[in-house]
Amino acid sequence: MNPEENGVRTIRVLDPATVNQIAAGEVVERPASVVKELVENAIDAGARTVRIDITSVQGGISAIRVTDDGSGMSPADAELAFAPHATSKITAIDDLFKIHTLGFRGEALASIAAVAKVTLVTKPRGSDTVAGTRLVVIGGVKKEKGETGAPEGTSILVEELFFNTPARKKFQKNLNTELARIHGLLEGIFLAYPQVSFRFSHNNREQLVTDRTTQPLDTIARIFGNDCARELVPVSSDLPFMRISGFISRPALSRKDHDRILISINDRYISSAAVMAAVKEGYGTLLPRDRFPVAFLSLAIDTRLVDVNVHPTKKEVRLSKEKEIGEAVREAVHAALMKNDLIPEVVVPRRQNRELDDAGIASARLSPGVAEPAAPYGADRGLTEAVTPAPNAESQSVFTEPTHTGTVSTDHRLRQTELASGVPPVTAAVPPLEVIGQVGGIYILAAAPDGELIIIDQHAAHERIFYEQVSRSMAARHAQELLVPAIIHRPPKDAAILRELVPVLAQEGVVIEDFGSGSFLVRAVPAVMGKIEGPELIDDLVSDLLSSDPAHSVSDRERITRIIACRSAIKAGTVCTLEQCQRIVNQLRATQSPFTCPHGRPTMVRFSRAKLDEMFKRT
Ligand code: ADP
Ligand code: MG
Repeated sequence: MNPEENGVRTIRVLDPATVNQIAAGEVVERPASVVKELVENAIDAGARTVRIDITSVQGGISAIRVTDDGSGMSPADAELAFAPHATSKITAIDDLFKIHTLGFRGEALASIAAVAKVTLVTKPRGSDTVAGTRLVVIGGVKKEKGETGAPEGTSILVEELFFNTPARKKFQKNLNTELARIHGLLEGIFLAYPQVSFRFSHNNREQLVTDRTTQPLDTIARIFGNDCARELVPVSSDLPFMRISGFISRPALSRKDHDRILISINDRYISSAAVMAAVKEGYGTLLPRDRFPVAFLSLAIDTRLVDVNVHPTKKEVRLSKEKEIGEAVREAVHAALMKNDLIPEVVVPRRQNRELDDAGIASARLSPGVAEPAAPYGADRGLTEAVTPAPNAESQSVFTEPTHTGTVSTDHRLRQTELASGVPPVTAAVPPLEVIGQVGGIYILAAAPDGELIIIDQHAAHERIFYEQVSRSMAARHAQELLVPAIIHRPPKDAAILRELVPVLAQEGVVIEDFGSGSFLVRAVPAVMGKIEGPELIDDLVSDLLSSDPAHSVSDRERITRIIACRSAIKAGTVCTLEQCQRIVNQLRATQSPFTCPHGRPTMVRFSRAKLDEMFKRT
């Protein structure tokens, strides 16, 4: 009886072709994986110029060709290169920990050739003949070998990808998705190798081109444009086990995705959730929690701390000392931001700049920090789109006069943040600013040296000032008894949350007692909040606490600090005297991180002298 009829199967050793097809599945998932392996081989071969040409017909990729001017291969090596586990890059397992090449597993060419038709043309550098080697391998089987006229270097053409693995072929997404993947992949590789010239084209149309350079910023500008490059500040840090270099965006340039945080470790473009998170953390309160910076960082780490052999595609690496590495990245990012002037500049797009609108006013767009570009300048007749009318709105002047009682309470709040407070600030990145006036009780206008106009959001500014004071000084969190304890009532759901927060709140100086059935007695608030004029403020504070989303990454304490800062700060719509505005500005300049409020919104924007001249057509 045939044992297989009983469900018992005979064990067989698979033939090499099948083994290679299975292995190929790991390395060659899709067209982009082919591009990755071939380009990495070219880089490993010391190429100075690499061309990537993609051809598509009928909505599918029909050919991938990668051409380099690298070392090339001898006829014997050319053949060996297609054998599984054939590599010139390591000889033993120990070599993995001093690896400086992108490849080492010796399986890429074998895998690609197992599932496609591959034509290789190669000639070694310095060869004294015109002829190079031409080799055709289809589905893992050598079909042709011969000589052909060839330049030094290597050209590999991959056609009929997945011809013998229909399931994999069917799995491919549409052409545009595949091209987008290839594009994204190449961006990362091109950035990691500024010393190589790359040219990527699709159906003979150039898609992405870089020229070899010693200035990585040139490569960034080439790929992501000058507008992006202009918003970058350099990062550099030297530690015993690691060197960090690269560029990160000022907070004014942020994205809703982390897709432009590109990291390379030892010149290998990789994805590391830990390092990405560290970059974002380095921004602290400079960015809203749902925005991500742009960052191009290159880490040179002691190769003994990096295990590259985690996955066949080597996109992930395992880091020993991951925590220390993350910490160092966070600090380097933070330090780079602290060193630079981060006031976002108002952007006037060139196209609109040329046209005058109906009113004869040149249209401009404000690009205040993280916000999407605001409405055209001329359209809402000014900058104060979100202005709440000032209390004494009868005044026709744009510069409103403060009321006496308003002035007194504002003075009081300003004094709170002028109290001496421990650690001296480290930055002086904001130039001296001379206040010119206040608009609509919300924006402070100030002049900077060099004829710049700076517009400051007074609430955001004061919020930043309060926030830093509360977070660094115990004294500021010191509880201050209320003359009349405030009573607040909450529905059961809120009451439960609030009850849990009582001990944390007490540490921050907010002393609340649970009175049962949804009633709470507020006995004390942080001293920094100053004299509390009514229970509304406390009620608001508790509401903020209950409504702010505890699921996000910041701690309860951080959340409470931010709420206290927001609630204590001078409101938008509070008319201030010139002297008060100047005090806010001076205090802001003395903060460690003056450019954004604790939620990451900008505190100020600038019109540079050059921009103003441009807008008034003085250039
Ligand atoms: P690995 O890169 O892991 O060594 P591959 O299968 O990608 O394995 O390549 C096998 C070998 O073929 C390489 O080690 C290298 O010696 C040679 N090779 C592949 N591509 C090129 C190239 N473009 N130029 C020169 N040599 C190459
Ligand atoms: Mg390789």
